[in-house]
Amino acid sequence: MQTVTILGASGSIGCNTLDVIARHPDRYRVFAITGCRRVERLMQQAKACAARYVVIADETLYEDAKHFAKQYGVEAEILMGEDALSFVASDSAVDIVMAAIVGAAGLLPTLAAVKSGKRVLLANKEALVMSGELFIQAANQYGATLLPIDSEHNAIFQSLPQTFQYGDLQGSGISKILLTGSGGPFLTRAIDSFNTITPDEACAHPNWDMGRKISVDSATMMNKGLEFIEAHWLFGVAASDIQVVLHPQSTIHSMVQYVDGSVIAQLGNPDMRTPIAHGLAYPERIVSGVSALDFSQLAAFTFAQACPERYPNLALAISACESGQAATTQLNAANEVAVDAFLSGAIRFTDIASVNAESLQQLEPTSVSSIQQVLDIDTAARAAAQQHVQRLTA
Ligand code: NAD
Ligand code: MG
Repeated sequence: MQTVTILGASGSIGCNTLDVIARHPDRYRVFAITGCRRVERLMQQAKACAARYVVIADETLYEDAKHFAKQYGVEAEILMGEDALSFVASDSAVDIVMAAIVGAAGLLPTLAAVKSGKRVLLANKEALVMSGELFIQAANQYGATLLPIDSEHNAIFQSLPQTFQYGDLQGSGISKILLTGSGGPFLTRAIDSFNTITPDEACAHPNWDMGRKISVDSATMMNKGLEFIEAHWLFGVAASDIQVVLHPQSTIHSMVQYVDGSVIAQLGNPDMRTPIAHGLAYPERIVSGVSALDFSQLAAFTFAQACPERYPNLALAISACESGQAATTQLNAANEVAVDAFLSGAIRFTDIASVNAESLQQLEPTSVSSIQQVLDIDTAARAAAQQHVQRLTA
C-alpha cells in the first residue's frame, strides 16, 4: 500500500489523479489533498477519498472550508497556507507526491517533496523551468525519484532506453528528442485576427481538457517552450538535441530518434490518466480508465513545423533555454503575469508575447546558485512584466 499526497487536487491533473487512485483502493491511500480557492470541491474530494489532511493554500477561506467540511461530513484535519503545503509533501508517512499546482506557487512544496526523497510525479512544469539545475541536483542529492507526468516527457521517458543515463545521448545511441505539440486551437486561424482572440477561445483546446493557464500557454505555444526547457533539465539534453514537431492529432505524445534511424514513440488517446497511472505504478502497469487506441477510427496522422510568426513565444523560450537558468526563470515569471492579464481581459492575446519579450530584454542575465536567488529573479521579472502590462492598459 502506497500513501499519496496530491498537491493541486482540485485542478485538472488533480482530479484525474484521484480518478486513477479510486480505481486501485488496494494499492493507494490518500494522505493529503491541497487546493487554493475551490474549497467546496476540495471537501467533496476529501470525503470521497478519505484524505487525512486537506490543505487550503488561501488562508482567507478557512471559515468557508470549515463550513463545507461540516456540510460534507469530512473528518480530515484542515490546514492552511504555504508551510502546510510543504508539510503534507514531505511527511514521513508519504511515499508519492503528485506535484500538480499550477505555476511558480508549486515550487516550494514540490521541492519539499524532492528534499524528502519522495517519488515525485511532476506535472508542475513551471517549478522545473524556474529552478532547473538546482531542482535536479536536489533530486539526486536526496534520492527522490522523478517521474514526468507532462504527456510529452512521460512519452520520452517511456521511449528512452531503460539504461539511459542523465544527459548521455551519445552513449545511448540517441540522435534527437522529438517533442510533439498539437499547435493548439489557432493552428489554422488567420494570424491577422490573433489580436481579437478571447480567453474562452484560447482555452478551447481541440484535444486536451486542461486548466486555463496551461490552455492559454498551449494556444501561444509557450507551453511547448516551457516543455522544451523542461526536457532540457529533466533528461540533461542540450537545446540542439531537441526538435519540436507539430502533430495536430495529439496521438503520438513524443518520440526518441536513434542514430540507426529508428524512432520510438509512445501513442495513446489524449487523456492525462495514462501518464498519471504510469507515474504512480512505474515500473508496473495499472488500469487508468483510458480506453484503448482504436486504429480503425483514427484519421491520418499529420506533421508540420511550427511557424515562428504564429508562435513567437516558442522561439523566445528556446532562446531563453540557450541563455540559461536566469532567463528561463524570468520568462516563466513574465509569462505567468502576461497570461493572468490576458485571462482577466486586461491585455490582448498578441500582447502576451510582447510582454514576455520586453521583460526578458529589460532583465539582466544573472547567475543562479540558490533557490532564494530563483525566487528573487522571479519577483523582479514579475515586477518588470507588470510594468509592461500597465503600459499596455494605460
Ligand atoms: P488547474 O488550474 O486545473 O489546477 C491548478 C491547481 O493548483 C488547483 O488545484 C489550484 O487550487 C492549485 N493552485 C493554484 N494556485 C495556487 C497557489 N497560489 N497555491 C497553491 N495552489 C494553487 O491546472 P492543471 O491543468 O491541473 O495544471 C496543473 C499543472 O500541471 C500545471 O503546471 C500544468 O502546466 C501541468 N500540466 C497540466 C496538464 C493538463 O492536462 N491539465 C498537462 C501537462 C502538465
Ligand atoms: Mg504537455
